[in-house]
Amino acid sequence: MHHFPIFLAVEGRRIVLAGGGDAALAKLRLILKTSARVTVFAPDPAPEIAAWAAAGKLTLHTRAMAPGDTLCAKLFYAASEDPAEDARTAAIAHADGALVNIVDNLEDSAFITPAIVDRDPVTIAIGTEGAAPVLARAIKRDLEERLPTALGPLARIGKEFRKMAELLPFGRARRDFWADYYDRAGPMAFAQGEDAVRPALDDLLSQHLDRGAQPGHVHFVGAGPGDPDLLTLKARKALDAADVVIHDRLVAPEILELARREATILDAGKEGFGPSTPQARINAMIVEHGRQGAQVVRLKSGDPTVFGRLDEEIEAVEQAGLAYTIVPGITAASAAVAGIGQSLTRRGRNGSVRLLTGHDMQGFADHDWAALAAPGTVAAIYMGKRAARFIQGRLLMHGADPETPVTVVENAGRADARTLATSLARLQPELSEINFAGPAVVMLGLRPREAVTVLSRADAMQLASKSSPKEIAL
Ligand code: SAH
Repeated sequence: MHHFPIFLAVEGRRIVLAGGGDAALAKLRLILKTSARVTVFAPDPAPEIAAWAAAGKLTLHTRAMAPGDTLCAKLFYAASEDPAEDARTAAIAHADGALVNIVDNLEDSAFITPAIVDRDPVTIAIGTEGAAPVLARAIKRDLEERLPTALGPLARIGKEFRKMAELLPFGRARRDFWADYYDRAGPMAFAQGEDAVRPALDDLLSQHLDRGAQPGHVHFVGAGPGDPDLLTLKARKALDAADVVIHDRLVAPEILELARREATILDAGKEGFGPSTPQARINAMIVEHGRQGAQVVRLKSGDPTVFGRLDEEIEAVEQAGLAYTIVPGITAASAAVAGIGQSLTRRGRNGSVRLLTGHDMQGFADHDWAALAAPGTVAAIYMGKRAARFIQGRLLMHGADPETPVTVVENAGRADARTLATSLARLQPELSEINFAGPAVVMLGLRPREAVTVLSRADAMQLASKSSPKEIAL
């Protein structure tokens, strides 16, 4: 981010603009929405500018700007559409201490003007740092359609009511009150006319005061494989409303970004609580926050019901008498097969699919190896990187075909996904050669649909020095 968005206090302050043509008009339409004192220097102003001056909306000087004209100005716009003239006026304004914007000259501007959605006092500013003004306008159009015009009046009336709302305890109770107002009670009352809004606020406040403290709730939420676009809408909503988010190590930072800004984010997978937090400690964290009335989001990678120790956490929550819900997510195996163009099940090949763990509390996990060794078997092996040699040995010992396809997908469902397509016989040497650092799922019995292998440049370079295993970058 090279431009930091802020909202500048301009009431009663000077904003000066030099220019009288189309560029000046476009900027003035925005600036005149503010309560600043606006001064324009234009030897030959457009008729609209003269009309605004006549109506007292701005002060117009029909001459070129000169040194001293921008004294005490907060902002200055050079909008003459003549680069030499703009550079001249910008230098004057800069010397006078104003923040300077030169229209259509990002490089020499100290600030840029965003696209604005105006529901005063709610103002949404959209910026692309000059990269894509078209995109900013498209977003603006989208928001204009989506945001009710009542938003402005509702926010204004709401602002006057803030002191009254302080009768509610700070935090969740007050937030719930405002959410109820903006989502439901406010728009409903506004439909009867603006005068109905204030009485509706009074009613709503007494309802909320009667309601007392709300109990906490625990949402066990699947974060999917890492791409925020693969979150469910329910997961998004839970993150939006969260007071506390307790997440695992594998949950991607882009997803944590989506949590409500005020939410407390706790990492249950990392230092601070020890290299990996003991399960009992995680259970205690969930219960502690739930008991305090918080909306707790227990965020797990993939699907919370797959190798997520969910049941232990549910039991703790039940014992504490707290309510909970489970929001499913896309598990690593689903993301992995989507990436290699295969199905988890296929008519005539496999009528069942197994989800296995490579290791459990005792070490490498034991499974029904004979069944897994049968032709056509498809299994997704989670936490299988370190157990690969063990699994390979057991399967071959139980008569599995050494040419059984095996595909290992690292960072499945993410932009940096990498795939190793190999066979059961070659799995171990190739996997250790590639040395995947990210989470990887081993898909037994599946090969990528594409016969061609595509290498990304970085992978090709990395592999060039080795006798390369077949690797495709998805
Ligand atoms: N609940 C998760 C699994 C947690 S166990 C889910 O449903 O996906 C952790 C293991 O999941 C990792 O060791 C790895 O085998 C697998 N895994 C998680 N995310 C992955 C990803 N994006 N790509 C590949 N494997 C992943």
